[in-house]
Amino acid sequence: MSAALTRELVVAQTRALKLPGIARTFDSLARQARDAHWPHEDYLHEVLSAEQASRHESVIRQRLQEARFPEVKTLDTFDFAAAEGVSATQVHTLARGEWVTAPENLIFAGPIGTGKTHLAIALGVEATKQKRRVLFTRAADLVRQLLEARDTRELTRLQQRLLRVDVLIVDELGFVPFDRIGGELLFNLLTDRYERRATVVTTNLAFAEWVTVFAGDEKLTTALLDRLAHHATVLTTKGKSYRMRKRRTREEPS
Ligand code: ADP
Ligand code: MG
Repeated sequence: MSAALTRELVVAQTRALKLPGIARTFDSLARQARDAHWPHEDYLHEVLSAEQASRHESVIRQRLQEARFPEVKTLDTFDFAAAEGVSATQVHTLARGEWVTAPENLIFAGPIGTGKTHLAIALGVEATKQKRRVLFTRAADLVRQLLEARDTRELTRLQQRLLRVDVLIVDELGFVPFDRIGGELLFNLLTDRYERRATVVTTNLAFAEWVTVFAGDEKLTTALLDRLAHHATVLTTKGKSYRMRKRRTREEPS
């Protein structure tokens, strides 16, 4: 068989067997193997390693897409020196993902523009690198989705789907209050996830103010906070909005 024909057959086989990593690398690796007189087994090993690496990366790429981050934010673009209240050491420890395995929750509380969403997304991105299923959603959107699913009798399906997510990021709790049913649906979701899956909440509210989001229902709010905060790390961001500060330093350089 001519070398060219063999190549063509191998390309067809990688397609049929869905081995894109091998398809991309087998040719250059074969050249390397010939030049360096590798044993056949070494060549096979290298080719399979390329496939493994390619699959690993494609799972991570898929997890990142499925997470539906509004913007990808990362830890290396977060300026810890400009952030009050959160320590770089603590956040980098969280980046290792033990809280996801445990599972434990994270609550980012603090004023607007202090990096809560940035950090929540960045830790979510780290979790996708560990092949975790992550989903980012705004609290108001999540509750609307739950209410819609309830109206169309698809609530169970949605709840099951949300329960498969290893890290659910609920952003901006407190911006929009929920009605009683909406609050109950969110409560049920967080109760289902309790001690089974990790949840991240960002909020501009202090715990004592959470009841205002849940239609004044003290009992439900207390029960929800109880579960959410039982195994939780609370990170309190402080200070002025990061963007406002940047604008100010640009306008009036000191
Ligand atoms: P919050 O969710 O607390 O309202 P965000 O995380 O959305 O605030 O931050 C607002 C903007 O400022 C975002 O673009 C974010 O990337 C940026 N930002 C906030 N804090 C920092 C920081 N310490 N370092 C870098 N960028 C930051
Ligand atoms: Mg935010």
